[in-house]
Amino acid sequence: ALGGASSALPQRPVTRVEHQSMVRNFYNDQTFRSKRQKRNQSKIYKLRSFNNCCKYILINKYAVRGGNVLDLGCGKGGDLAKWEMAQIASYVGVDISDQSIREAIHRYRGGRYGFRAIFATGDAYNTPLPDILTNFQDELNLEFDTVSLQFCFHYAFINEQTARHALENISRSLKLGGMFIGTMPSSDFIRWKIRRLAPGEKKWGNSLYSVEFPEVPPKDGNFESAFGNLYTYYLADAVDHVPEYVVPFEKLRALCEEYNMELRYKKNLFEVFNKEIPKYFHRLPHPLMQSLRREDGTYGISGEDRDACSFYLAFAFEKTSC
Ligand code: SAM
Repeated sequence: ALGGASSALPQRPVTRVEHQSMVRNFYNDQTFRSKRQKRNQSKIYKLRSFNNCCKYILINKYAVRGGNVLDLGCGKGGDLAKWEMAQIASYVGVDISDQSIREAIHRYRGGRYGFRAIFATGDAYNTPLPDILTNFQDELNLEFDTVSLQFCFHYAFINEQTARHALENISRSLKLGGMFIGTMPSSDFIRWKIRRLAPGEKKWGNSLYSVEFPEVPPKDGNFESAFGNLYTYYLADAVDHVPEYVVPFEKLRALCEEYNMELRYKKNLFEVFNKEIPKYFHRLPHPLMQSLRREDGTYGISGEDRDACSFYLAFAFEKTSC
């Protein structure tokens, strides 16, 4: 069964402003919805744990102890504990959803974190970072060791201008040798899925997630333009047909090089877990690992969860010159 009812995509291209307000409204509403839902009763409980586990690994692989971090699209602050584990000294979280930022502040204040944190609402892809953080400029050093974009960079590929603005913000914020890290949908996986669609089909998925293009995608999975390739993504109990954009990875890599950032790591989340877990197993929170324990005593995910998690990859780029 494909997850979710079919989406009601507009019959014309979505403008950048419409897109940003759709995304903001969706994540604002979601902040209220998720408060009412018990996490461990969700259909995607395992998948969430798996994604969190991969984020723990990526963050702890690349964060600098005592370093400072910029988290763009930080959401409700779900990664604060991961940065705590990495022993960073300071953290700046930015998100377009003001409700998510409120929740992140609440979470930070309610926890015992060993790092300083600042949160700000703003469009990280279209507004220069100093303008978003204008109220904090006296207390802030705007050069970061790590810039993190977790599960959010695909919103920047609505058009070339937005993707370039986002990369400009990211690259300018990084110190030399600093890392741009993140997780996002894999264009390799999307191409692989498109090539296996039946003729005329424009949707795939399972009971946990689905991806739907407004029109039948090119048979070979190679889109004419690198930008604006819209699909709607559904994830049970989490994302309800929100418009997203394909990020052709080789295009991202070429653009990053233009902005002085070189690829250091690219792996599907399934590979991240299998390759890195022996090293991180004992450092990760015990309940998180237990939620990934299979009946045979091994750890990981399978079946529909596996297909849903393979949709994502993790990456790291290093700032190599100014
Ligand atoms: N990074 C968080 C995590 O991994 O839990 C949240 C991920 S959530 C799937 C995507 C986030 O990106 C949302 O909180 C959304 O509001 C944010 N976002 C989307 N477009 C944005 C933009 N232009 N500027 C800042 N945040 C944005």
